[in-house]
Amino acid sequence: MTLYADLHRHLGGALHPRIIYKFLQRHDHPVLGYFPDYEGFYSWFTRRCRTLEEFVKIHTLVEELQSLEHLPYFCVRLCRGAYMFENLQYLELRYNPYFRTDKTLSMQKRIGQMKLIVEVITENLRPAEYPIVVKQIICLDRRLPQNLNEAILKVAIDNIGPVVGIDLAGPEINDHKFETWIKFMAKARAAGLKTTCHLGETGIDNVHEQYFAVLDRIGHGIHIPLMKPDLLKELAKRQITLEVCPTSYCQTGVLNDLGDLRTVFERCRKAGVSIAVCTDNPGRNPSPCTLPGEYERLIDHDVIDFGELKQIQNEAFRSAFGFVGGGRG
Ligand SMILES: [Zn+2]
Repeated sequence: MTLYADLHRHLGGALHPRIIYKFLQRHDHPVLGYFPDYEGFYSWFTRRCRTLEEFVKIHTLVEELQSLEHLPYFCVRLCRGAYMFENLQYLELRYNPYFRTDKTLSMQKRIGQMKLIVEVITENLRPAEYPIVVKQIICLDRRLPQNLNEAILKVAIDNIGPVVGIDLAGPEINDHKFETWIKFMAKARAAGLKTTCHLGETGIDNVHEQYFAVLDRIGHGIHIPLMKPDLLKELAKRQITLEVCPTSYCQTGVLNDLGDLRTVFERCRKAGVSIAVCTDNPGRNPSPCTLPGEYERLIDHDVIDFGELKQIQNEAFRSAFGFVGGGRG
């Protein structure tokens, strides 16, 4: 059996819509007023969006369901599914702890609650029956004020071990603030965390070369080979891996067709830039969306050929932040 590693998956988008729907039914959630049957919910939840902003709105709904009390329910289910249905040996799961705190509390209390959120997630990502290793990446967010992002970084540093890295997420806004984010990444690295950033997903404006000095990987980054291929040399030199999540780009309106990724893979191959194929938000994609399925779709669309499969799979393990034998020291 081939085993896989997924390095880019959001806790808010990792769950099968059926699991979310059952949860809503169990709690008689008001959103069911719009979706009396599962089919309606499924089409809404997995529909293609025109923009990343539109996509993120549904994501927010799920984040709110994943409260302290209910996180164990979601964590256990996503681990067992990843092992049983996707043959994942290793998973890096990313999330913003602040978005899972109790919204009725003051900001100070919510900041305090983040510690518990990380602890509960850590506790529930160790399913005894399933030999999958799950490590955490904590997300900063472009929409949050600096003091909150500082607090998020602190909780990540305090939990090094189960937490292996830091990410910058949220829609690609405020690109002029890049120096702030670079400082965050440098601080995270100095504290012993690995770093990745959502960059170059929807366009090229957010991609500043200065980021490359503080990043181990880039979340997506597909617009670098598409629009600024001259930067690839620098990525290769610094051994920065791109986390490429094929179906996700069709769901967020970034690409029309998976075939558009041919240029991305060709240019990276030529420049010696590594790619790890990942899933991003598999629960939000039309079923069944699994990591092995993503590989198969890339072959179907002539983006990669079968002969490259093993090497690309190995790349994910090699670029992992917390896999023994992975990472780049
Ligand atoms: Zn992502």
